[in-house]
Amino acid sequence: MPDSHDTTNLFDARGAANPLDILKRVYGFSAFRGQQQSVVEHVVAGGDAVVLFPTGAGKSLCFQIPALCRKGVGIVVSPLIALMRDQVEALKQVGVRAAALNSSLTREEAVAIRRALSRGELDLLYVTPERAVTDGFAEMAADIDIALFAIDEAHCVSQWGHDFRPEYRGLDCLASRFPGVPRIALTATADPHTRDDIIERLALNGARVFTSSFDRPNIAYEIVERDQPRQQLLRFLSRFKDASGIVYCLSRAKVEETADWLNAQGIRALPYHAGMDRALRDAHQDAFLKEENLCLVATVAFGMGIDKPDVRYVAHLDLPGSVEAYYQETGRAGRDGLPSEVWMAYGMADVIQRRRMIDEGGSPEEIKRIERAKLNALLAICETAGCRRQAILAHFGEAHPGRCGHCDTCLKPVETWDGTEAAIKALAAVYRTGERFGTGHVVDVLIGTVNEKTERFGHVNMPVFGAGKELPARTWQSVFRQLLALGLISVDHAAFGALKLEPEARVVFRRERQLFFRKDRPASGKAARGQKSAGARQRSELAGSDLELFERLRSERLSIARDLDVP
Ligand code: ADP
Ligand code: MG
Ligand code: ZN
Repeated sequence: MPDSHDTTNLFDARGAANPLDILKRVYGFSAFRGQQQSVVEHVVAGGDAVVLFPTGAGKSLCFQIPALCRKGVGIVVSPLIALMRDQVEALKQVGVRAAALNSSLTREEAVAIRRALSRGELDLLYVTPERAVTDGFAEMAADIDIALFAIDEAHCVSQWGHDFRPEYRGLDCLASRFPGVPRIALTATADPHTRDDIIERLALNGARVFTSSFDRPNIAYEIVERDQPRQQLLRFLSRFKDASGIVYCLSRAKVEETADWLNAQGIRALPYHAGMDRALRDAHQDAFLKEENLCLVATVAFGMGIDKPDVRYVAHLDLPGSVEAYYQETGRAGRDGLPSEVWMAYGMADVIQRRRMIDEGGSPEEIKRIERAKLNALLAICETAGCRRQAILAHFGEAHPGRCGHCDTCLKPVETWDGTEAAIKALAAVYRTGERFGTGHVVDVLIGTVNEKTERFGHVNMPVFGAGKELPARTWQSVFRQLLALGLISVDHAAFGALKLEPEARVVFRRERQLFFRKDRPASGKAARGQKSAGARQRSELAGSDLELFERLRSERLSIARDLDVP
């Protein structure tokens, strides 16, 4: 009585099992997607492969099916216990003999898995990277047939990726220890730096590289300047009726506060972060997976490996970690292919805070350089006057033919203005006031605000005082944000956020470089009324990036990483 879940026949006929047969009979799918079949055939034939497909493309089958076709067990290196658990469960459901070896097992469970392995009774074995590189593992593996090694989430090997795991670094040993066993590395992070790093670090030089477009045509991108974040979020959420989505915040405290606030506004919201009790966290995740009208407010601890097809929106209340992280996090929307919207609100405070976390973090200078470059790449997308989709895809080395037509900058084209003269004034104001003051004060000087501080420092008597009164404070802040994004100025955190000139600023002073800035969109509703106090708001944003907040965020980030379930 053969049915699609009866694998006995399949395994009896192992030698003859062909990929399409397995796809149909084991998984119940009628056809391969995209380049799945090419990858599968290449690996079945014993070739190494690097697979760069976006999230949701179906990378798992690219190693699971070859493992079933080839003799022996397929060893899958995976970074998270939770990910392993989900995949092993799904495989068991369809009758594939799969298991995971990790630190969450009892001794007895581990012994049972080893026994099954030595008897050739497993099709797929999931292991953590730390385990895969041990001598114990090499000994165990020496006695059995290995169909292939799959290194999932392979970007974890690279500092350029968004989720570096030092344990991935040792995995190049698989090449020398198991010559002749095909290796396949898979990731949804494909910017050129990460890609090259994966190939080099995993010693995959001869591997065939499979890439598919990273475009997610059903996702509409929108990035707004943060003004009144809660009201802005509410306006964004009001576009969705009976739909589920994710709101990302940087800190646990903000997750809790935002979820409470949304509930008070009549939007059903649940918090999720690594500081919560595990049972509660799991309950919230389950609710999110099952319910159709739920807003999950989460830190980045949420999402990897989550397969909910009908996530209709993803909002970021804080700047994400990098373009890769942004792409991953927004990529959780619209896996079912239906129209979905992603939205981010960001402001100067984010940029300053992030620069500061990098500068004052404990990383070696080499890593800090990478981190700064990654931040600048993200800011370039936030500040672009061009199509967001084009900018995102360009980051992944992919050209998009023409503007996409449905991101915010395509729908409402951003006007630009020649800001060369304004930039010169702004840079001069920074320079004349001795590179000792933050944005708020320098803007006050430019627009000629007489107050205690401008008087005390004698700035009211300088030629630059009031030199920029033709533009509102809000525009000046935007100018400074863009100068920062362009690397023409920097922020000195040791000096309480004082702006400094970067060497490149000289070129602007000499009028050898013309600058075009985004024109501010007219602020709407309440935001417009708040315009007068823009200077005050800016100052309070800056005050918010004080050391205490920084320390809190940094320690939370560390514990998020710890709590991510890293085995
Ligand atoms: P990725 O690892 O690339 O993010 P997954 O391997 O988790 O993607 O697959 C995403 C979803 O697509 C899964 O639900 C999977 O069952 C489904 N899928 C993969 N390949 C096919 C296919 N050929 N036909 C139908 N569904 C598929
Ligand atoms: Mg995957
Ligand atoms: Zn566009």
